[in-house]
Amino acid sequence: MRPLRIPAELLAAVVAHARAEAPLECCGLLAGSADGRVSHHFPLRNDLASPTDYLTNARDLFAASKAVRAAGAEVLAFYHSHPASQPVPSAKDVAGNHWGGTVVHLIVGLAGPEPDVRAWHITESGYEPAAWSLDQA
Ligand SMILES: [Zn+2]
Repeated sequence: MRPLRIPAELLAAVVAHARAEAPLECCGLLAGSADGRVSHHFPLRNDLASPTDYLTNARDLFAASKAVRAAGAEVLAFYHSHPASQPVPSAKDVAGNHWGGTVVHLIVGLAGPEPDVRAWHITESGYEPAAWSLDQA
């Protein structure tokens, strides 16, 4: 599976989004090229406005998907935040995943002194770590 490569400034934008929405969860998506390099960041509204759960706003998702296609890119990852817990998929994250096991889920954990970003593949029965790296280029 292609490892996700995220430019530092896009990862910083994701963390900034998470901090701006805290104590509520934020969500969004990352898009880029088929080789896994992220080039686009789309913040999406969390319809639940909850500190422990999220539901991607359907209109935002539709608009972002259109923009991704228009840019000739593809959806590589979804992200959301855990403002007060570890960046590990919750039972709801596993039950609510409709994207199959290939899309990467980034979770930004804000419970510690520094943001903790981890990537996961969520399957029907659970989750496993996904490969990703900071792209310094
Ligand atoms: Zn979660």
